[in-house]
Amino acid sequence: ALCHAKQFSRSEIVFFEEGHADYILSTARTTKALSDADFCSELLVNFQPVWDSKHQTLVGFETLARWHSPTIGNVPPNEFIPIAETTGIITKITKCIFEKALRAAKDWPNHLKIGLNISAVDILNQDIVDDLVHLCKKHDIDPKRITIEITETAAIQNFEGAIACLKAFKEAGMSIAMDDFGAGHSSLSYLQHLPLDHVKLDKSFVQSIGSDTRGRHIASTLIDLCKSLQLGCIAEGIEDRSQLVELQKLGCTTFQGYFFSKPMLPDQTQSFIDAAAEE
Ligand code: C2E
Ligand code: CA
Ligand code: CA
Ligand code: CA
Repeated sequence: ALCHAKQFSRSEIVFFEEGHADYILSTARTTKALSDADFCSELLVNFQPVWDSKHQTLVGFETLARWHSPTIGNVPPNEFIPIAETTGIITKITKCIFEKALRAAKDWPNHLKIGLNISAVDILNQDIVDDLVHLCKKHDIDPKRITIEITETAAIQNFEGAIACLKAFKEAGMSIAMDDFGAGHSSLSYLQHLPLDHVKLDKSFVQSIGSDTRGRHIASTLIDLCKSLQLGCIAEGIEDRSQLVELQKLGCTTFQGYFFSKPMLPDQTQSFIDAAAEE
């Protein structure tokens, strides 16, 4: 690691990792702002399209949380979600995001899917499935349209709990996607033991495909594996046409990424839906 030597006095030299102090400060600020937050009014949802290139149709949208804090400004989900998990506030955030997502989605054509992310802590919350079923009723949305996205990290922390929770979502009619597959603690035993319907191929693979032969072989094998296991495979992080073409050659047909669209505000979804229908 890069280290700075900072001289406090003639005899005292302290080493610390570059950026570490900033990190601690920003975590503390974020934690404070989160605990002050009037959540639901500071949180927004964005939606990113999921595209079926074989049928040239819009599959649906993934919901992505956005937080605008009046004290510290915009904080990306990669920063505030892990902190919210440690303070326990994530349970409230998840519920609020679900509510906002379903409220926006109730105006969409009812063949469109709605992707919702859940965290490791949400899995331990007994009420999450019932809460979501209730929200579906309230907004007149068929639970079959919901896809729950869970990361490997969430599954590893409590494997038995994850299985029970995912089964309950499935009993309610919802689908399950393994998110970020190929990043982090990938284990093929997830594919064997979790009740999955889809796998989302992590963007790090997708983005290495043009330059890295090994990456391409791994992506190819994972796509084939999904096919054998009858799991849908969604490639994430498509930024240019060459990545799309490569992945199509490998047999992948479902995609998400800036190449199709960046995440958008709820009121931008209708014109995207209309444009997609005209293609
Ligand atoms: P994720 O679930 O893997 O979401 C995809 C992330 O990739 C999003 O980042 C999206 O904006 C970004 N992305 C999409 N297309 C591209 C592309 O072509 N290139 C690149 N470089 N990036 C692309 P975002 O919105 O910052 O979210 C980051 C992560 O935060 C999400 O990763 C997810 O793990 C978490 N997250 C977001 N919203 C929620 C939520 O409501 N609940 C929970 N538990 N986690 C959330
Ligand atoms: Ca079409
Ligand atoms: Ca996701
Ligand atoms: Ca992902």
